[in-house]
Amino acid sequence: MANDLASMNIEELTALMAELGEPKFRAKQVLSWLARGVAPEGMTNVPASLKEKLSAIPFGGAKIIERKFSKRDETQKFLYELADGNIVEGVLMSYSYGNTLCISSQVGCRMGCAFCASTLNGKVRDLTAGEMLSEVTSVERLIPAAEDRKRTVTNIVMMGCGEPLDNYENTLRFLERATAADGLGISPRNISVSTCGIVPKIYSFTEDAPHITLCISLHAPNDELRRKTMPIANAYSLSELIPAAKHYADVTGRRVIFEYALIEGVNSSEEDARELARLLRGINCHVNLIPLNSVEERCLSGVTRKKAAEFAALLGRLRVSATVRRELGTDIDGACGQLRNKHIGSQTKEEA
Ligand code: SAH
Repeated sequence: MANDLASMNIEELTALMAELGEPKFRAKQVLSWLARGVAPEGMTNVPASLKEKLSAIPFGGAKIIERKFSKRDETQKFLYELADGNIVEGVLMSYSYGNTLCISSQVGCRMGCAFCASTLNGKVRDLTAGEMLSEVTSVERLIPAAEDRKRTVTNIVMMGCGEPLDNYENTLRFLERATAADGLGISPRNISVSTCGIVPKIYSFTEDAPHITLCISLHAPNDELRRKTMPIANAYSLSELIPAAKHYADVTGRRVIFEYALIEGVNSSEEDARELARLLRGINCHVNLIPLNSVEERCLSGVTRKKAAEFAALLGRLRVSATVRRELGTDIDGACGQLRNKHIGSQTKEEA
């Protein structure tokens, strides 16, 4: 069931039109507006009486209330306000092939990773599919597509606030709408979902969304170390997580991506790289390394670029494909949860 207008597909809109006593063709008209993120008042070919009826239904919007530009690169960060006043964030990164938008799937997060700003105050609520779609369409409405491109956002990564597989049904609905020809029409190959490793959900995801790229936040080569920074590692050990990742790669024929944030003095030694290579042997995978983006509230810091490159080179020599991800937008709190926390923090200070 869709929980708001922006989440609806053609079947649901057709049923809604019947319920509202409207002709069937209106469903298609409304859907084409929704695919562009237009709320009822802006649906110019829809009669006022229907606009009014549609306005009575929650829309599922995400309104951009702040836009920050990085001075170091072309990264932009957005703060979105949801209808109930909650705040989430997104980051737009420019690459030669297009623009990747990193979106949020929950307000806050309950996974508790020690290095992550999104989880500091726990989870407030799940985002609806409509709200996630609105994160994309709001950016597209703000920034028109370049002349040689059909759209501004060519790629999506679900790597903002929240754990997408802890909001499973809405995430699946979002992915369906984001890839459908009558939705956003983005190729599934251009969409990545990142999880901290909820093993049963990884198996479901492999079945339900095999064309979407799966990223798994690993961040440690063994359970003992992983449990120090990621509470989810207490629920699922690597002896369960790694076979789930391998299963995804085997079934889909696509590489599984492992994310590994290099933390100084924690998981970035030569021995850690060797242990990681042993762990991932025989899996069709790629390791995305990133020096940890230091979080003010946590006493953990990232390794130098040079050390990250050495870690990647060693993995390469050990026959594990690995690259160091470009750090984008570090001057605008690019890491997930950082800007939202500052926003909430400044509000609290204002209120105090
Ligand atoms: N909940 C999902 C997706 C959101 S986080 C997940 O855990 O994968 C997206 C990625 O950023 C994850 O790999 C997460 O571990 C990582 N991350 C979180 N805080 C970070 C930080 N301070 N520096 C670098 N990466 C970070």
